[in-house]
Amino acid sequence: MIKIMQRLVSSSLCFLQMKNSVLSIVAFLACSEVIGQSFDVNKEATDLNYCEQKSNVIEKLKDIKAGKFGEFTPGIMAKISSSRKIIALTFDACGGPTGSGFDSALIEFLKEEKIKATLFVSGLWIGKNDSLFRKLCAEPLFEIENHGLSHRPCSISGKSKYGIAGTENVDDMYDEVELNARQIEFYNRKKPRFYRPAAAVADEGCVSVAKELKEKIVTYDVLSGDAVPGTAAAEIKKNILKKIGPGSIVIMHMNHPERNGFEALVEVVPELKKQGYEFVKLENHPLSGKK
Ligand SMILES: [Zn+2]
Repeated sequence: MIKIMQRLVSSSLCFLQMKNSVLSIVAFLACSEVIGQSFDVNKEATDLNYCEQKSNVIEKLKDIKAGKFGEFTPGIMAKISSSRKIIALTFDACGGPTGSGFDSALIEFLKEEKIKATLFVSGLWIGKNDSLFRKLCAEPLFEIENHGLSHRPCSISGKSKYGIAGTENVDDMYDEVELNARQIEFYNRKKPRFYRPAAAVADEGCVSVAKELKEKIVTYDVLSGDAVPGTAAAEIKKNILKKIGPGSIVIMHMNHPERNGFEALVEVVPELKKQGYEFVKLENHPLSGKK
């Protein structure tokens, strides 16, 4: 395989073709290495090094307060810092009994249109979609980020949102973020840099814990509304086009094929292109809070 890559590098293919080919091979190698192997969350959670690192963070942050709790808590990222017409489409995969589906039409559309996107994936979703997840890891258009191990709102004091119980304390929150980050790293060979909690809510204490884990908490500045059952494609399209601007982060979902995310996207993307927007991944850009 190394020889093939060397041959590609020295070939007379145009630079772009060469870059894409090498990226595909690197992604394929990354995923093929873990074929047949699975990440063992329980084993990782009881690993001595893991426990020691967690204890150190708990001790370091023993006096932190929960502070404000919400989607735009101080320290939470919600936009790309840019005045250029760049936007990030982000798609959550939440998991759980009613949230472990896969909108293949939506993902195929992104691939056909060569649209870069950021996928926030939970441990619950990975557990139900093992082979699909490995394929998504192998797609260079997509950046894989962290949607929590058990898809819980992020709290160090047990707050809830929409009836979903949040993490209870720093110990619990650390596991929610770090165990899924390690799981994603195992399959994707790259540790996530961004974490979006369930319901896109976190408190200020969580921002501090995430910082220790070298992850930034990211929510959104454009709410598509695709998560609400029954929302029409025209409504989702309207929500996006009304709020979009330079540096916007749009929140959508890839785990509900029965809803209208794909139907909205096929109409929104041509319109956004017409308006001069370029689709980017979060990982390549500095982020900021909601203004
Ligand atoms: Zn979610």
